[in-house]
Amino acid sequence: MTACSLPNLTSLETVESKSVLPKGWKADLSNLANLDLTLPVIELIRRTTSRLPQDIIESLVAHRNLEAEGSRAANTLDTMIENVTLADEHVSPLCQDTGTVIFWVRHPFGLSQRKVKEQIRKAVAECTSRSWLRPNCVESLSGKNPGNNMDPFGEGHPVIHFEEREEPGIEISIMLKGGGCENVGAQYRLPEASLGAGRDLGGVRKCIIDAVTKAQGQGCSPGILGVAIGGDRVTGFERSKEVILRKLGSANPDPKLDAFEKKLTEELNTLGIGPMGYGGGTTVLGVLVSEMFRHPASFFVSISYMCWSSRRMDLVLDGTGNALYR
Ligand code: SF4
Repeated sequence: MTACSLPNLTSLETVESKSVLPKGWKADLSNLANLDLTLPVIELIRRTTSRLPQDIIESLVAHRNLEAEGSRAANTLDTMIENVTLADEHVSPLCQDTGTVIFWVRHPFGLSQRKVKEQIRKAVAECTSRSWLRPNCVESLSGKNPGNNMDPFGEGHPVIHFEEREEPGIEISIMLKGGGCENVGAQYRLPEASLGAGRDLGGVRKCIIDAVTKAQGQGCSPGILGVAIGGDRVTGFERSKEVILRKLGSANPDPKLDAFEKKLTEELNTLGIGPMGYGGGTTVLGVLVSEMFRHPASFFVSISYMCWSSRRMDLVLDGTGNALYR
């Protein structure tokens, strides 16, 4: 069997040499009210759209090497890995669908959320005009596309979550959530008689297996499953997306859920769905679970399915204002 090795991606120096941020750019964190984050966010989008996180690449390669040589699963994973290399080399989108653009902004007291929202919207419009993002935001009923990724009415796109925190510095996480994988997300209300699923981890397991079985290859498997146990219908789905920001291979802080994630990942990979539904042992790259509190009368299991092209990145403005991308 010929083992596939990790692709040679462009060096950090090369990535930085193409940055839209002027060399030596620093945020003035002593003047939070007047901070302009437009440029660092443009750079965040530029890097995210063309380069997969290292943990996802490593997982694709590791699973490729577990598939039988010459099988459709191995060939499909080879193509995905080649895609990763080409997108990185040409700084071009990893997939034609650059997804719903979702941000999480964690900041100290004093930042103007209104101004940052305007700056993020400006950055998204600019990246759309540069073709780093596809214009993906259309009017629901008419299908009319304003062409700039802006929802002009409810300001629902791009999606921006804010959270004030004690720590100095600012963190902005981004996720590009593909439409195909979003379509196969699911929400269950336990108990669910048709699945024989009760209000416990065993019931949660049955929901996840059901969602993956129904998705088959749709949603561009191998998938990464973000799962929220509890919450209400809205907060559960929100958490199920946010949990996908966690790195593959990182431990769940709850040992019980950590063991559950590992065992379920193995189980799901025996379903035979495989990459893009062509069969094989790589149906998912991982399962990431978060438990929330809930109303006593409700028990929701919210599942967000992320495709193999799991584009996410963090921009960290550290205490001294330096911009770090990771
Ligand atoms: S689901 Fe993911 S990989 Fe598939 S088309 Fe959408 S963004 Fe691309």
